[in-house]
Amino acid sequence: MSTQQEYDVIVAGSGLGGLTCAAILSKHGFKVCVLEKNKQIGGCLQSFSREKTVFDSGVHYLGGLEPGQNLHQIFKYLGIIDKIKLKRLDLHSFDRVSFYDDQKEYKLAQGYDRFIQTMKKDFPDEEKSIREYCDMLKYICDKFPLYNLRMGGLEEKASMLHINAAKYMDELSGDPKLGKVLSANNMLYAGVRGKTPLYVHALVTNSYIESSWKCLDGGSQISKWIGRVISSNGGTVLRYQDVRRIVAEEKEVQYIETADGSRFYGKTFISNIHPAVTMDMLESDLVRQAYRNRIKNLENTNSAFIVNAVLKPNCFPHMNYNVYYHGIEDTWGGHSYDASSWPRNYAMFISPDRQNPNFANSVSVMSYMNIQELSVWNNTYNTVAQPGNRGEDYEAFKKEKALKLLNMVYKRYPLLKDCIDSFTSSTPLSFRDYIGAYDGTAYGVLKDCSDPFRTFISPRTKLSNLYLTGQNLNMHGILGVSMSALATCGEIINMEQLLHEIKQA
Ligand SMILES: Cc1cc2nc3c(=O)[nH]c(=O)nc-3n(C[C@H](O)[C@H](O)[C@H](O)COP(=O)(O)OP(=O)(O)OC[C@H]3O[C@@H](n4cnc5c(N)ncnc54)[C@H](O)[C@@H]3O)c2cc1C
Repeated sequence: MSTQQEYDVIVAGSGLGGLTCAAILSKHGFKVCVLEKNKQIGGCLQSFSREKTVFDSGVHYLGGLEPGQNLHQIFKYLGIIDKIKLKRLDLHSFDRVSFYDDQKEYKLAQGYDRFIQTMKKDFPDEEKSIREYCDMLKYICDKFPLYNLRMGGLEEKASMLHINAAKYMDELSGDPKLGKVLSANNMLYAGVRGKTPLYVHALVTNSYIESSWKCLDGGSQISKWIGRVISSNGGTVLRYQDVRRIVAEEKEVQYIETADGSRFYGKTFISNIHPAVTMDMLESDLVRQAYRNRIKNLENTNSAFIVNAVLKPNCFPHMNYNVYYHGIEDTWGGHSYDASSWPRNYAMFISPDRQNPNFANSVSVMSYMNIQELSVWNNTYNTVAQPGNRGEDYEAFKKEKALKLLNMVYKRYPLLKDCIDSFTSSTPLSFRDYIGAYDGTAYGVLKDCSDPFRTFISPRTKLSNLYLTGQNLNMHGILGVSMSALATCGEIINMEQLLHEIKQA
């Protein structure tokens, strides 16, 4: 099929970044069209169900959603804040962290005062360090203008970009356990010792300390409602549209072509597809090989293996918090393992049974997994839109890994073993195929405190009408990607006006 269609703005990829850009621009009168290769829109926001139980593929909790906080304000402006079914996590512990050599569970509480008081109970001699840490998080977050929905330049945050997160935590106090506890949820950003900057930790952790929420009925609600905003403003969201070529002539992109040969013409183009993949699709002499190589050689954050388990009714008590467990000394060390030492750590996310909220109806357990482990299945592909079979050996691999991971969880939560009804799992290949980055990266480009500017990708490109958006730009996560979408839209419409509208919403 070959059709020719013309729009003001064409967005390739319907992840949160693409959808948010499309919604904002459609609210500003642009005729937008979003092209998504999958059956379901939303990228990492996709949900799926097993035995009538909803699972999230990539969003387990959100921060900053209390009235007056940054994400709340953006969702309010988009008109979706009252539509999403949310449940606030336990005020006294949105996360609980534990370690192989210590029976205790350490609690991370919501609200800075509560956070400090709770942490002080476990570290009574460390109040000064705990307060210093909280002040540091707030100080860093203040330096990021968009995070505070205000105008500002790169120079404001420049001095924050080089601070090494692991080093900061190691040196925070005389008690090394405090730094371990504070960095124990670094799977939230796939933190790497010596690379991850403290600002990444600060922007993520601050939002959860401010307020932590779970999406009831799955994160796909967010994409569904943003999709409706786009449609109600006259925009179009097309599924099963696998973008293959972004074709430019001289300084401008002319059209996007999808797998079936359809051509979509527009005045402005936004790619929400991983920038390295975008570079492969982009046919333009203007974009130099050196730039393409720089983008393609950027290291990405690690991928993950996730077990999604349906639980028997009224069996496992619901815990209104997330769990992070470390089976090794170094909280940043979960990336390096061999077949015998995997898994080294995990995060567990628990969902309540809607009929009987005192019990959980599902758990998802996540650990790092390097995609190289799956190299024998590298040439396979499987999504709902383009089904494929990776074979029995792949299923056996998944089962073996899932049981290993669950066995680690049972040591801490023995009751869970008898409460699991059934489970499925996803691997780095699931993320690769559903999200579209070749290495299945969970959170996109890895930020590096030793060379921070190299790991920043601008929303602008050499082509005057091609922009980038999504988690690879500024930050990942629902909050980070929403900020990236503002940065992208701020290149197309007036940023000051946009921020004013958001604040006035
Ligand atoms: C396992 C996991 C857990 C996470 N947990 C959390 C959490 O608890 N809280 C939180 O805030 N964040 C979490 N995140 C991060 C968050 O989900 C992401 O940062 C965010 O959703 C990424 O949005 P994005 O706009 O970059 O797009 P992506 O989600 O990367 O989507 C890109 C879209 O582009 C589409 N696409 C790719 N190639 C093509 C093509 N050729 N043609 C057409 N379409 C294409 C894809 O199908 C996809 O829909 C998690 C992520 C993962 C992977």
